[in-house]
Amino acid sequence: MKSPSISPDDVAELRQQVTGPVLTAQDEGYERETAAYNLATPIHPDVVVGATDADDVAAAVAWAAARQVPIGVQATGHGADRPIDGGMLVNTARLQDCTVNPDTRIARVGAGVRWQTVLEAAVPHGLAVLNGSTTDVGVVGSTLGGGLPVLGRTFGFAADHVRSFDVVTLDGRHRTVDAEHEPELFGLLRGGKGNLGIVTAMEFQLIPLEGLYGGGIFYPGADAREVLAAWSQWSADLPETAATSIALLRLPEMDIVPEPLRNQFVVHLRYASTAPEEEAARLLSPMRTISRPVMDTVGPMSYRDVDAIHMDPPVPLPYLDAGRLLNDMSDATIEALLAHAGPDTDCPLLLVEIRLMGGALSRTPEGPADVVAGRDAAYLINLVGLAVPPDAERVPPAITELLGALDEHVSERTMVNFQGALGGEPGSAHVWTAEGHARLAAAKAHYDPHGLLRFQQSVHT
Ligand SMILES: Cc1cc2nc3c(=O)[nH]c(=O)nc-3n(C[C@H](O)[C@H](O)[C@H](O)COP(=O)(O)OP(=O)(O)OC[C@H]3O[C@@H](n4cnc5c(N)ncnc54)[C@H](O)[C@@H]3O)c2cc1C
Repeated sequence: MKSPSISPDDVAELRQQVTGPVLTAQDEGYERETAAYNLATPIHPDVVVGATDADDVAAAVAWAAARQVPIGVQATGHGADRPIDGGMLVNTARLQDCTVNPDTRIARVGAGVRWQTVLEAAVPHGLAVLNGSTTDVGVVGSTLGGGLPVLGRTFGFAADHVRSFDVVTLDGRHRTVDAEHEPELFGLLRGGKGNLGIVTAMEFQLIPLEGLYGGGIFYPGADAREVLAAWSQWSADLPETAATSIALLRLPEMDIVPEPLRNQFVVHLRYASTAPEEEAARLLSPMRTISRPVMDTVGPMSYRDVDAIHMDPPVPLPYLDAGRLLNDMSDATIEALLAHAGPDTDCPLLLVEIRLMGGALSRTPEGPADVVAGRDAAYLINLVGLAVPPDAERVPPAITELLGALDEHVSERTMVNFQGALGGEPGSAHVWTAEGHARLAAAKAHYDPHGLLRFQQSVHT
């Protein structure tokens, strides 16, 4: 749908109504203000607002709603799966308030705060946060999508621990929603992404945790069959105190890759356990006796170093990706993975990752019903390829072929945070459960009847 044209007078009016920068493509700073983590996704709104507080967000939303201008929102750009062409983008990166109360174990963060910031404030008090594979991601954006944490099997989704949201809806109203106040909207924001308004702040419960036993084991890619088969059997019996994923990694020749792994094809087992050290090490021990690990970093660690478990790239990159729920890690699944991404293939994908789900992730949290998908999933498969020559053009067919080969072992459904650029139609029914999608669609018709919040993961009404 084409965005209505925005005149210089319209922009001038917007500048009067907000205190932060209001930039068009002609203005200096526009590129910085619209930059996303995924460098492959063009983000070109007609106008970008660098909101400095919740009032700026409300004023920008009211301005756009009055003109029927589509509205996007971005904090870090880690979820910039789809291009933005036209409309208004609200950049929340300046909303950096972050408080941690060690007595109540409650954190309050502005919409621009990354997990890294709140983690730094929480760890000195023996508290942890439920970040995903990298703490570079935004707290609010990832939690609105459910938020699949490293320690999800032990503590559930990040959204399960939210106490309240401050949200600006398209009528320009500031609302604080929680289990008592507008409980249906509160429930829908837990997993419903940015469909119903712009969140300006969020309060959530922190996790008491002094440290953990975690890290990664890298095996030679040539042993992928042995390692995947062993991981499948071993991970099936893990208690909830242990989380794991495994990835086939084709690592580029880049400075950000540790020296022994550069330009190598390796299998990367990730492990994080909250069990006492001896028990956590005992649980992992079977995986230490297979193959010939190239590198083993697993040991006692501060939660501050949690990013060392997945070792996600710390810098923006151009990439194409797709994720789906995976039904099993049977022999047939492993054969399909090996046939399309194993050592004897020239698979162009940087990452073929399988995360073990279950445990606390499968439990419904207290409070109003949410729309977090993936509670019934056994595994998640996440596929990423770099969108740089010479392999860029080979990435989309490689993802399609691998998902096709997995056949009935892969679900049609995904989770909103993992759909990715190539994961099918955004906002469609396979991103949520059927019931969750229906509830979101009904609420969208009420809170956003003209579908102005239509960028990225916008639910279809
Ligand atoms: C390297 C990498 C690792 C990741 N690992 C994990 C993981 O382990 N677990 C996991 O669950 N996810 C993971 N993700 C996905 C990530 O959680 C989502 O992409 C999430 O949307 C990022 O939020 P953001 O605010 O950082 O990104 P942004 O691109 O800034 O925002 C993404 C979307 O979130 C919504 N949004 C953001 N802020 C607001 C707001 N204030 N109000 C309303 N809507 C808003 C909007 O729909 C927006 O388009 C990962 C992504 C990357 C790139």
